[in-house]
Amino acid sequence: MLGASTLCFYNEDPQKAAESLAREFPLIEVIVQGNIPLSKTHRMPEVILSLHAPFSDINIASLNSTMRNASIEELEKAVGLAEFFGAGVMTLHPGNLTFHTQKNSEVARKIQISSLGRLASFAEERNIILALENMPRQGLHLGKSPEEMEEIMKMVDSSHLRMTLDIGHASTNGNLSEFMRLKGYIVNMHIHDNRGKDEHLSLGEGIIHFDEFFGQLGKYDGNIVIELVEKRGLRKSKQVVESILGLETKPL
Ligand SMILES: [Zn+2]
Repeated sequence: MLGASTLCFYNEDPQKAAESLAREFPLIEVIVQGNIPLSKTHRMPEVILSLHAPFSDINIASLNSTMRNASIEELEKAVGLAEFFGAGVMTLHPGNLTFHTQKNSEVARKIQISSLGRLASFAEERNIILALENMPRQGLHLGKSPEEMEEIMKMVDSSHLRMTLDIGHASTNGNLSEFMRLKGYIVNMHIHDNRGKDEHLSLGEGIIHFDEFFGQLGKYDGNIVIELVEKRGLRKSKQVVESILGLETKPL
């Protein structure tokens, strides 16, 4: 199913953002931010919701157990929200290296696997699929390569830990086509364009060949979420994806 992210409504009420997007998309991915909590008062039965967990100030690979446990608790709260809203899938980020762990990333990776195992069990009890997102080239993110993501999937080994393939992020790392071999894990995709760094542009404003990507990918049944920083490109991006996937809705 094709949907849109509330990213382009950043710092606005996510409930209002979701309502606005619901006029044009059957699927909305709501970014839950700590400073603007998603209202618990209004469900939206007319659309399918998926959630994007908080990511600012969150690090499940932190050496500091207080910070790490706080991060896990925030993500568990988001899983609870996903359950409340009937969102079956929740995207989350793989954690970051820090000043200390960038010189010894194995320590951070071990902690990350343990955190993800704990979160996957929590999500399984609530019937939510966690979708771990691959990250862009810039920054101290974990989870930039298909090799790393595959290792995480194998180490955690949970039916409730799958992947969100962020096409724009993979493109900044030059490894988009290599991610195709992980198709079996991918339940969700983020789609946006860029000119080599993570810009979340409207489709067609950057250098990514989306038609080639989907042509090579073949059959895919998961969700595709347009994730732009500006609202103005939403409609055009929707048309681009629909035309590539042959989804054009015929006029009545
Ligand atoms: Zn994304």
